[in-house]
Amino acid sequence: MALNDQQIYRYSRHILLKGVGGTGQEKLLNSRVLVVGAGGLGSPVSLYLAAAGVGTIGIVDADEVDLSNLQRQIAHGTDDVGRSKVDSAAEQIEELNPDVTVEKHPYRLSAENARELVEQYDFIVEGTDNFPTKFLVNDACVFASKSASIGGILRFQGSTITVLPEEACYRCVFRQPPPKDAVPTCAQAGVLGAVAGMLGTVQATETLKHLTGVGTPLANRVLSFDALSMEWRAVRVKRDRNCPVCGDNPTITELVEYEQPACAIPPREGQLSGVN
Ligand SMILES: [Zn+2]
Repeated sequence: MALNDQQIYRYSRHILLKGVGGTGQEKLLNSRVLVVGAGGLGSPVSLYLAAAGVGTIGIVDADEVDLSNLQRQIAHGTDDVGRSKVDSAAEQIEELNPDVTVEKHPYRLSAENARELVEQYDFIVEGTDNFPTKFLVNDACVFASKSASIGGILRFQGSTITVLPEEACYRCVFRQPPPKDAVPTCAQAGVLGAVAGMLGTVQATETLKHLTGVGTPLANRVLSFDALSMEWRAVRVKRDRNCPVCGDNPTITELVEYEQPACAIPPREGQLSGVN
C-alpha cells in the first residue's frame, strides 16, 4: 500500500525520521495492535497509536465509563459516562485518524478467548489494573510467539517490560500473581492521572519501535519510575530456563485464570500492576 498525498503530509514528521521513513509509515498502516484495557494506560496508548497511523487497533475491555475514570482515562469524555469504554475509545480514535480501523472487543479477556484474540494481532499492549490479565496476556503471547508490552501504575509509580519471543517473559520475572487475600483494593491506593500518560506513552513508543523495527526494545529490562522524585531506573532481568511457561520444561501448558480482585496493589515493589 503506497502512501497518498494526504498521508505523506499527515505523517511527514514520521517520514523525516531516520529508520522510520515512508517504509516505516507503511508498516504502521499495515500493522495490527491489540490494546488490552481502555483505561488509564490503554487511553494514551490507543490515542498515540491512532495518531501514528497504526492501521488496525483492537481494543478489549468489558467496562463502561465511570465518572471517576475521567481523571486519567483520556480516551473518554464526560458525555461518555455510562457508555461502553470500547465504543467511547473507538469514537475518539476514528475522529483522530480516519486511516485507522478499530476492532471492538467489548468483553473480558479470559483463558477461553485470549489465545485466539492474541493470534490475530502483530503486537499486544497490556495496560489493565489486575495481575491475572497480565499473566494471561503473557502466557498467551508465549504460546502464540507474539510480542507484548506489559505495564502497570500505582500512586506515583509506573513499571513496564516488553516481552519478546525467546527473551525474558513476565513470568520469568514475577512467576505468579500475589495471593488473592494479600492485596488491598484500589480505592485505598489512588494514582496521579498524568502518571498513566507517562507510562502509557512508554508503552506506545515500544509498540511503534517494534512495528517499524527501529531502536532497541525494552526486553530483558524492567523500567520503573517514581514521579515524586522523577527518577527512572531499568533493572536487568534474564530469561529463566526454569520459567513455568517459557522455560525448558514448562509446567504451564495452557492458559490459567487466576482469581483476584480488580485494581490490585502490588505486594512488593516493582510488580507491574495497580490502578489503571
Ligand atoms: Zn518466562
